[in-house]
Amino acid sequence: MTKAQTVPQEITSEGRMPPGIAACAIVDLDAIEENVRSLSLVAGDAAVIAVVKADGYGHGMVPTARAALRGGAGWLGVALLSEALALRAAGITEPVLAWLLVPGDRFTEAVAAGVDLGISALWTLEEAAAAARTTGVPARLHLKIDTGLGRNGCLPADLPDLIAAALRHQAEGLVEVVGIFSHLAFADAPTHPSVSAQITQFTDAVELVQRAGAKLTLRHLANSAATLALPDARFDAVRPGLAVYGLSPMPDLATSAELGLRPAMSLVSRVVMVKDVPEGQGVSYGLTHVTSTATTLALLPLGYGDGLPRHASGSGPVLLGGRRRVIAGRVCMDQVVLDLDGLTDAVRVGDVAVLFGPGTGGEPTALDWADACGTISYEIVTRLGARVPRHYVGGGSPEDVLPKEEPR
Ligand SMILES: *Cc1c(COP(=O)(O)O)cnc(C)c1O
Repeated sequence: MTKAQTVPQEITSEGRMPPGIAACAIVDLDAIEENVRSLSLVAGDAAVIAVVKADGYGHGMVPTARAALRGGAGWLGVALLSEALALRAAGITEPVLAWLLVPGDRFTEAVAAGVDLGISALWTLEEAAAAARTTGVPARLHLKIDTGLGRNGCLPADLPDLIAAALRHQAEGLVEVVGIFSHLAFADAPTHPSVSAQITQFTDAVELVQRAGAKLTLRHLANSAATLALPDARFDAVRPGLAVYGLSPMPDLATSAELGLRPAMSLVSRVVMVKDVPEGQGVSYGLTHVTSTATTLALLPLGYGDGLPRHASGSGPVLLGGRRRVIAGRVCMDQVVLDLDGLTDAVRVGDVAVLFGPGTGGEPTALDWADACGTISYEIVTRLGARVPRHYVGGGSPEDVLPKEEPR
């Protein structure tokens, strides 16, 4: 039996969700600004490079970047040159560092736009120098050192050649070696022996580069966890990402609140169907959920096509009708179903369900979703897809940040 399909016209206080939209991510720009202000206080004399790669960890890169700058970030950090150039195209003139460069990348545009480049290898150095020749603008470089993560970065053994080549280009006026940086493997476990080993390796690399003649103004190593937990890793600047968005980078050790952070993103969706079904009703593909009593089912119009992990099948938590529920059966591309555990009038079409938020109103958090799916909160917020419009609240002038059209 299908229930009376009454759609409430008002926006529920639970969700502040714009009407007519299947799902949206509400991003609180004040939270981002305040998180950066807290991180800046913790960092003391070190500058804050707010990391806004991957569309600001799913929060929207440009609005996030502006909020971070309002909160006192002196720099923005991104992985890709395309991201750095998108910041410049949005009119952001503050220092930007990009560190994941690709052969044939937009080096010329980046150098002309004054984007600092993270240099891990000789080939990137040569592309940077060539871009400087073309543009007549010296390329500003931060040498990226692999001090133990085994990922991007120049191995210490290859550093003497890299710095020698960089200083030859510097003598020609093509590049300026302004910084050196590295990334930690285990900052979320601050007492792990790899952490102090990496700090030692980094300090050695700094010395080697300075002895070779580079005048470094920015030495940086700390991600979010190290910014918060490892004073020895702060150097001249810190590069927090996740903490900017208010999520704990070390949830086993401290909650967001304990770290003075406020999660900025809430994911909400609107119920589009409510129906009463008997005991024994199978739900969703594969019929992995079967109702154990006569019950009411509620349908939410979002799924893995929106970035919900399919691993949330049977486990993803949702606040609906004042109670936390768990997704019944499989997460589909566009839809998920909630079993309201018995016949109820508590939920109606048009009600707003909160999949995650700060956790202060009884709703699950991105960390709860991560735990339910066997992943980390980083992935939960970052993977939200383009189909989910971002709706901005707080901070700045709303005309600047509200999406021009929605859904985007
Ligand atoms: C992503 C990234 C960061 C930010 O890491 P968080 O753990 O999110 O704080 C910092 N530095 C580099 C090189 C990164 O790739």
